[in-house]
Order: sequence, then C-alpha cells, then structure tokens
Amino acid sequence: MILNIRQIQHYMYCPRRFGLLEVNKDWAENVFVIKANIIHENVHSAKHKYHGSSKIELSSVAVYNDDLELYGNTDCIEFVKSADGVYIDGLQGRYGVNIIEYKPSRPRDNTVSQADAIQVYAQKLCADYIWKCKSSGYIYYSDVRKRIMLPFDEEAEEYSRLLDKLMGEMREIIQTGIIPDRKRGQKCSGCSIQELCIPQKKKYSVRSIINEEDR
Ligand code: SF4
Repeated sequence: MILNIRQIQHYMYCPRRFGLLEVNKDWAENVFVIKANIIHENVHSAKHKYHGSSKIELSSVAVYNDDLELYGNTDCIEFVKSADGVYIDGLQGRYGVNIIEYKPSRPRDNTVSQADAIQVYAQKLCADYIWKCKSSGYIYYSDVRKRIMLPFDEEAEEYSRLLDKLMGEMREIIQTGIIPDRKRGQKCSGCSIQELCIPQKKKYSVRSIINEEDR
C-alpha cells in the first residue's frame, strides 16, 4: 500500500488524528495549518528556483521509492557540484544531493523534532532511490534563518527501523479501518480537528432556549 510521506507526521503527532484523516477523511484548518501552508507556498513559488554554476536549487520536487511504496514532495532539493557526486539526468557533471525541509520555527530546546527528522529521512530514501545517491538532509528554520544538518550517516539504522515500524502501523490502520483511541497524555491544543475528534457539547441556557422559541 502506497503511503505519502506527509502522512507520517500526522501519524507521529497523533495516531488518532491520522486515523480520522485517512479512514474518515476528516479535515479542518486552523491557524497552525495555515501558517505552515503560507511558508510552504513561499518555498514552492518560482522565485526560489536558482541555477548557479556550481549549484542548482529546485523547489517542490516530487520523489518516490517503489521498493518502500512511498512518495512525497520535498520543499527544496539542491544539486551541488562535487567530484564524489552522482550523474543527474539533464545536468552536466557530478552532483551531491541535499534535501531541505522548511519549518516555521525551531523548537525552544534547540532539539530537532523526531517527526520532522523522520519526514526528511523518508524524503532522503526516495531521493537516494531516484538518483542512486547518498543524499544529505537538512531542516531550515524560518524564524532563526538557520539550517541544521540531520545525522543520517551516523544514525541510518535507527531511522530505518523507526520508519519501517511507523509505516507498518499506518498501513494496518488504513487496511483495518480501525481508528485508534486518543493516547494518554495526548496534547490536543494545536490540533485542527478537535471538533471532529471530541465533539463539544453545545452550551445552552433557559434564556437562550426561550429566545430561540420567540424567533
Ligand atoms: S483532538 Fe487530540 S486526540 Fe483528537 S485527533 Fe486531535 S490531537 Fe488527536
């Protein structure tokens, strides 16, 4: 079963949210989603494309890996001229491949979120599959205008194991159609589908009922 890389983050944030989105196809936007969308729209606009003599930068590049049955979109891919690099169709010379994912803000404790890192790792496996390369992954934080390199060389086994596990669990939810319950301690304040997940009881008062009836 083919998965979209974007779904991995939904699942890691909250398996119930992933189930609601994928099984029930529920969706609602909130300020967090809108903010992230604006940043992505800027990244994907033509003004961010760049062709230099030693570097080519492309935004919104679709990637896939048939072996993993995984596909998605990268925010930005850089092809940087390098003697150790690989040949890329349509380009002259050899290139190293960098994947850059844009995020609105850096976590307060300066760590990289595991969900963000695994998203880039999944993109990397797709890029490696397409260009037969060993790409590098970065996260660019817009608020501090800083790019962080992810430790994929050193921690490839851990990332692969985690990605396999997540994709197995996700596929099971889609196949069985069973939406997981809310996790203990799940933080819901930023979730855009709270109303759909936990329908709120409508507040009413005797006065409001009388007013309704008088209309
Ligand atoms: S409201 Fe909470 S439990 Fe429900 S989908 Fe959102 S994050 Fe998950």
